[in-house]
Amino acid sequence: MIINKEQLVKMAQEREQELIKLTSDLIKINSENPIGSQREVIDFVMNYLKESGIEGDEVKANEEFPCILAKMGNDLGPSIILNGHVDVVPAGDPSKWDFDPFGGEVTDKLILGRGTSDMKAGVAGILFAMRLLKESGAEIKGNIRLHIVSDEESGGQFGTKWLIEDGYGDHADACIVAEPTSNYTIEIGQKGSNELILKAYGTPAHGSLGNYKGDNAIIKLSKVLINIGMLHEVKGNYRDDQAQALKNSKYIASNKLDMPGIENVIDHVTASVGTIQGGTKLNMVPDYCEAHVDVRLPVGVDIQELEEKIKSMIEKSGVEGVEYEVEWKNYGNSTPMEAPIVQAIKKNAEELWGIEVLPAYQWASSDARYYREKGIPTIQYGPSNTEGIHSYNENVDIEDVLNANKIYLLSLCDLLGVE
Ligand SMILES: [Zn+2]
Repeated sequence: MIINKEQLVKMAQEREQELIKLTSDLIKINSENPIGSQREVIDFVMNYLKESGIEGDEVKANEEFPCILAKMGNDLGPSIILNGHVDVVPAGDPSKWDFDPFGGEVTDKLILGRGTSDMKAGVAGILFAMRLLKESGAEIKGNIRLHIVSDEESGGQFGTKWLIEDGYGDHADACIVAEPTSNYTIEIGQKGSNELILKAYGTPAHGSLGNYKGDNAIIKLSKVLINIGMLHEVKGNYRDDQAQALKNSKYIASNKLDMPGIENVIDHVTASVGTIQGGTKLNMVPDYCEAHVDVRLPVGVDIQELEEKIKSMIEKSGVEGVEYEVEWKNYGNSTPMEAPIVQAIKKNAEELWGIEVLPAYQWASSDARYYREKGIPTIQYGPSNTEGIHSYNENVDIEDVLNANKIYLLSLCDLLGVE
């Protein structure tokens, strides 16, 4: 019997309790990062794959942060990567939660707990889609490669970045990262995040003579930092075929963040002073101070223009002895709106939700960029209630979880020739 899409969706519907339980079970495993080991959650996923008849391998750069690679299908068509992280940010003060963050509680409409939205519901959705395809015996033309990582929330050096650098991200035709988005947006691009270091050099003196002697490095740097907003004047550059996605992104930013002018966060550089260190002792005029600035680059930004702006920001302060250091590592990255993966997710999401779904660029960044840097058309789409992410009382709508799973399933069918 040849299994078709309709039958697969029916299976997903009949077995939706399995998906809810899988999400809840994942929540019950505390996988906080930093601090906690990821061993238990990785073993759980490995076992789930085994039960599903899908072959998987554990690979790792660090004993506490293993990754899982699994593959199903053949070489008769496209190769599609599904990516998800199973680590979660710490739950923090338990008294600030209205429920046990690791209880995995399921209500009428919601699944509750740390990591529901970011992103264990997404992980459950891709795992369950693979299981349904495998168990149904649907004939796919091409293959699905699963990348489960356990280090995303704390720098990610043992996660996707490492996987890609170790050669596991080669030759794919599409990649879905099941990170939380709204149901009405598909993330097709992001800003690049970089670290700018500003250093001020002064002359030490005894603190008691502070207003007469010495040259205070903290004061000098403050005069520069007060103009950090100048960097926000630098804009990205977009091709004609990126205009619609840019328009969508600005619409979404104003809609979600609801602050006047916030849409400019998408196509302008942002610069946020994150940390500052200076001085050694109360009674010494400090001769050194440095600040670390989080600089986010939109798509197509001209780095030379930005560097000129940094120099004129320092000049404008009127102080001598301030230098900057930066290694531009991460650029704005994007996937074309016409890519089959974008169109497949858009079509299926629109049909299921009955709403318009907008491909758009995000103001933040994630693991998607590592795949895009490899030339793999990559999108993010996943279930979420954004208000609890990285905060207290994280939760996800059951309807969102069930629909996301079907959208993954149907899009895989479209790309892998299941009619
Ligand atoms: Zn995440």
